[in-house]
Amino acid sequence: MLARFAIIATTVWLGTCSTPPDWLDHVLAGGQLVVVTRETPTTYFLGHDDQPAGPEYDLARRFADTLGVELVIKPRDSLDALFDAVRNNEAHMVAAGIAITDKRKQTVAFSEPYQSVEQQIVYRLGTGRPKSVPEVFERNLVVLRDSSHAETLRAIKADHPRLTWQEIADDGVGDLLSQVADGSVQLTVADSHDFDLHRNFLPEIRVAFDIGSADDLAWVFPLQHSKALRTEANRFFARVRRNGQLARIQDRYYGHTDELDYVGTRTFIRHVDSRLPRYDAWFREAAAAHGLDWRLLAAVGYQESHWRAKAVSPTGVRGIMMLTEATADYLDIDDRTDPRSSIFGAARFIARLKERLPDTIREPDLTWMALAAYNVGFYHLRDARAIVELEGKNPNVWIDVREALPLLAQKKWYQRVKYGYARGWEPVRYVENIRSYASILRWITDERETSDDDAQQLTQPAASSFTDVAP
Ligand code: GLU
Repeated sequence: MLARFAIIATTVWLGTCSTPPDWLDHVLAGGQLVVVTRETPTTYFLGHDDQPAGPEYDLARRFADTLGVELVIKPRDSLDALFDAVRNNEAHMVAAGIAITDKRKQTVAFSEPYQSVEQQIVYRLGTGRPKSVPEVFERNLVVLRDSSHAETLRAIKADHPRLTWQEIADDGVGDLLSQVADGSVQLTVADSHDFDLHRNFLPEIRVAFDIGSADDLAWVFPLQHSKALRTEANRFFARVRRNGQLARIQDRYYGHTDELDYVGTRTFIRHVDSRLPRYDAWFREAAAAHGLDWRLLAAVGYQESHWRAKAVSPTGVRGIMMLTEATADYLDIDDRTDPRSSIFGAARFIARLKERLPDTIREPDLTWMALAAYNVGFYHLRDARAIVELEGKNPNVWIDVREALPLLAQKKWYQRVKYGYARGWEPVRYVENIRSYASILRWITDERETSDDDAQQLTQPAASSFTDVAP
């Protein structure tokens, strides 16, 4: 592929006298947008269905669609290799969570920013939180080579000559955060969105404090011959910002990151070993029978009963999936406390709710809305979608419905909808918790399957676990 690309490049460049064409002409003539990126949960990875995913991937794919060309993704191992790829014309651009910095501006060009993040010093819970730069001096601080973090540390060192750190090229941000979690590294610097995502899986990591000023993330282009392509990219960002696509992509990957606290995450991880084995075969079977991801179904079970088959709530819901008597009747379940019936019934119920919702709602939003309906009731969810419409927003989009649901508890709103008052904040929390549990479970089971399967040398990156598991 690269060879073919090089040939096209040469041909196009030779064909146009002295001035090389803009990368945009090159992309359009070749029918391909070649993008280099990194494999991290905040950029690009293979999802649970082995399909490419990640916020940068989603954005780049939409951009390629806008240009009417094929997207070709080339992962690189280090930050430096990304910049080399655009400097050497091996790719049209970099989409990899890259911050705009003064130093980088000398050798590459940037699009408009699409996201702002903080740079955060990260430490391990129980090791004493450093509160200021001097408190970092004595500790072992490791950051990625060529990162904006290293650049910020160099700037800080001007005022704090005793500040020292180590730079590594081979590991990714996930490795560094894992090393802080297991104590092999004392401190690192991470972008806030990376921290938030990893925090769900590494409950020991904590933010000490923010350093530098906020970083603007953007796409990277070669300094020369990229002006028209950059203009297109800027138009694209303006459009996805306006039409809400950018917010949806960000919600898909980061929407559930701040839901679980430390105790909740630790307890969940413990229960995966102590309670889940009793039920996981049924979760797998029932999910497969109804076209659901078993980890999502198991996450629903955890949210409902903490995987206790004898659970009973004061409102009369019972069993591992906490079905009401009415739902159990509707599903023809005789004994709600029988875990197998309860799990199969819930799977059937969730699948039915998905079918009852309009097919204009796409995944994963469809699954989130079905779960919200499972929790608050189908008609209340319908009311919330009606409110979204009254507000001139999009009722097919979970992030808009999520904002409207709590309004069902406000008189001004519940008087205007058909089914009246509901404790609308509950389904929001319910869905976001399930998303968190499901992604932790995916992470744990992927890790285990990968180590069980070492002989086969699985090539799927471990980061695949970080996406939402639906669908
Ligand atoms: N945003 C960082 C940079 O631009 C990336 C490093 C990281 O992912 O931790 O260098």
